[in-house]
Amino acid sequence: MQEHNIISFMPDWAFFTLLALFAIVLIFLIIRIFFSKPKHYSYIEDTFYNVVWKWSWKKEKIRNLYCFCPKCEESLVYDDTSCKERFALHKETKFICEKCHYSSSLGGGDISHSLKIIEREINRKVRLNIYEK
Ligand SMILES: [Zn+2]
Repeated sequence: MQEHNIISFMPDWAFFTLLALFAIVLIFLIIRIFFSKPKHYSYIEDTFYNVVWKWSWKKEKIRNLYCFCPKCEESLVYDDTSCKERFALHKETKFICEKCHYSSSLGGGDISHSLKIIEREINRKVRLNIYEK
């Protein structure tokens, strides 16, 4: 008597259908694991300190953080000259819209200080999962 394994009992079409299904599931899993993006990657815009901020994500880091006018969407220019004076009492970074003259400011330091504040705000919202989806 000849021994048979389960595959030899199957018609060819069933075997190839199973193989195809297996391949599809495998490809799906690979895509899921290697190409899925974290949920917060869709969080790329918010308003902080009356200014619209936009950025992109690279891994877990915020990149290309930039600010825009909340009134006309023009990109803002900044002025942190108050921080350049050695004994300045009031350090701040002003954000100014050259188109509609809207302005806002962030106290405490120069542009890099301000950007760090915004990055912390973004990271805090991601961590607490309280950003708008
Ligand atoms: Zn404006």
